[in-house]
Parts: sequence; structure tokens; C-alpha cells
Amino acid sequence: MTGIAVKPRARVAAMPEYHPPLGNRDLTRLDFNENTLACSPRVAEAIRLLTCERLTKYPERGTVEARAAAHLRLDPEQVVLTNGVDEAIHVLCQAFLEAGDELLLPVPTYTMYEIYAAQTDARLVTVQAGEDFAFPYERMLAAITPRTKLICIANPNSPTGSVTTREQILAICAAAPQAIVLADEAYFHFFGETVIDLVGQIPNLAVARTFSKAYGLAGLRLGLLASSAENMRWIRRVLSPYSVNSVALAALPAALDDQLYLETYVTEVKRARMEFLLDLTGLNLRIWPTQANFVLVDIGADHRGFVEHMRQAGILVRDRSADPGCQGLVRITIGTREQMRRASIAIENYLAQCKSGDRA
Ligand code: PMP
Repeated sequence: MTGIAVKPRARVAAMPEYHPPLGNRDLTRLDFNENTLACSPRVAEAIRLLTCERLTKYPERGTVEARAAAHLRLDPEQVVLTNGVDEAIHVLCQAFLEAGDELLLPVPTYTMYEIYAAQTDARLVTVQAGEDFAFPYERMLAAITPRTKLICIANPNSPTGSVTTREQILAICAAAPQAIVLADEAYFHFFGETVIDLVGQIPNLAVARTFSKAYGLAGLRLGLLASSAENMRWIRRVLSPYSVNSVALAALPAALDDQLYLETYVTEVKRARMEFLLDLTGLNLRIWPTQANFVLVDIGADHRGFVEHMRQAGILVRDRSADPGCQGLVRITIGTREQMRRASIAIENYLAQCKSGDRA
């Protein structure tokens, strides 16, 4: 049967599909900034104890949400659990962005801000970071207009690892009182600084946290959004009531209870980071300061060849060349010291091949 094609909204028709480069990931995963080992065994146990009867029920997030809020010393009205931080970004865009509004982003930054905003009628305004990839603070302030409605600051930022200070975030909140300022603290555990204590005190501040990174639960899709009770009322209107499933809800208290596991993993990554950055510097590669569980490395024109060389060596890394200002740059997740030693050797071999002329 032929018919007239059903047209989507113009905004949707103009969007490309977004497919993160997954697939064949049974190698050492230094490509998506995940936990490169495993989640806490207590989380695995909590999931194992889930009954079939429990799975017949729709998920009820209330008590677990309150538990997460208490963990962060926030009121339950200030917090929602989300299907990853990605859903938090999605609902922020849905709740706050309309025609004529501006989403303000420093770039390069996390891809999904732009993708969710592209589904709204808001306009994207970007501020390119300089060559040092430091947060372009002054120019961000200068880019704020009365139409600025949402400002997303990944802190630490991805793919750069650079950070924004508490003072800078506060000044941006003050300069754009008509806008939500999202501090996306997905990589908080590897940095240690937060503005989550200011939620409620600064009316336009929102903070996102994820269980996908240090906690090692990317597959469960579990994130959290915090803001003033007033802002959260709008968020709850657009949030799907069952977007956080029962398995994720069963896992969350166990994940929060096992802080020792979290500390052990984060300590390991920080040690590995110190060693790996020294290795890269020793190999004369240009890198940028990072407070996250990844580092951006300047590979140059052969960035594709490098990614392939690493894959042959059993290690997945992420080419960021398509990001604004990132031509020739590859992002490498920091895992354990053992994993990073293997990565260093693979990189050394690559550079040796370049030097000996074995690589074009
Ligand atoms: N924010 C940033 C800065 C990220 O890098 C990522 C993950 N790549 C996310 C949010 C998404 O996290 P989640 O898995 O919780 O959706």
C-alpha cells in the first residue's frame, strides 16, 4: 500500500540520528568513560535478590528517591531520579526551552545537550573554548542574553577534563537569573568539588549526578537531577513516571551503601591517572589537564590510524576529532593502573612505528 508519508515536526526532520560508536566492546573499554572493572558486588547481590513477583509491579521510585536525596543532604522535593543524566537533560529541555529561548553551551562539551535541545524550538548558542580548553568564563558571561534559558556546564567537562570553579558557576547563576544553570557533575567522584550543597539556596541552579561512571552502573541507566523544589515541580510534570525501572531502583540503595567500593575504585583511577599522565608526557604527547576519569591526547593527522592501532592492541579509545576545536584529538578513559600500563605500552609501540617510518 502506498500513501502519503507522515511528516515529523520540522525540528525532528532536520535532525540526524545519533548513534554512539558502540559495538564489539569485549576489549579494554577506554572509550566511554565508564567504570572499566565492575560495579559493587553488593549491587549485584541486590539485583539477584529481586523476585519475579517484584518485576510484575510497576516501579515505585518514591522511597528510593528519598534515600538518594538524604544521601546528598537534600530534601526529597529537590530531587528526582532519572533514566541516566541523559533523561535529566532531556526533561530540562522539555520543561524550560521554547521558541525564542537560547541554550548556552561552552564547546567542546557533552553531545547530548545539543541533541535534546535540537528537539525543541530553542536556539543553540555556543562559546568555543580556547586552545587550552579552559572553561571560557568571561566569554560565557558575555554570551548571556535576556533570552538565555538554559546553560549546561559539565564539571568536569567532557571530552576535555577541564573544570569550572564554584565562584564561576555562582557568577553565571547570578548573571542569568532567568535561566536554569545545570552543573552536570557526572564525573564528580574523580574531581571532588561540587555545588550540590547550593541546591535550593541558588534558585536557578540545577545539579546532575550519574551512577554510570564511578559507580559502574551505566547499563542500569540511573541518574539524578537536583534543583529548587519549585523548579522540580515543572520537571516532575514532564518526567515519565516509570523511567527508572525496578532493577535500577533495587540497585541504588546497595550502591549508596557500599561507599568503600566507590572509594576504592576512585582511588585506583586517580593513581592510574597520575601514572598515565606522566607516561604520556614522557612520550612527548600533548595532553590537557584533567580532573575526570579520562584524558584528551593530541595524536594529530593519523588519529584514525591510532584508534585502529589501539584496537588491534585490545584497547578501545575514542576519536574526538569531530568535536569543535578537537581535530586530531583522541580521548582515553582512565581505568586501573594495570589497564593504563597496557595502554601506555600500546601508545609507545604506536609512536615507535611512526618514528621508524612503519606508519605513513
Ligand atoms: N554528562 C556527561 C558530561 C557525560 O559525559 C555523560 C556520559 N557520557 C552523561 C552526562 C550521561 O550520563 P548517563 O549515563 O547518566 O546518562
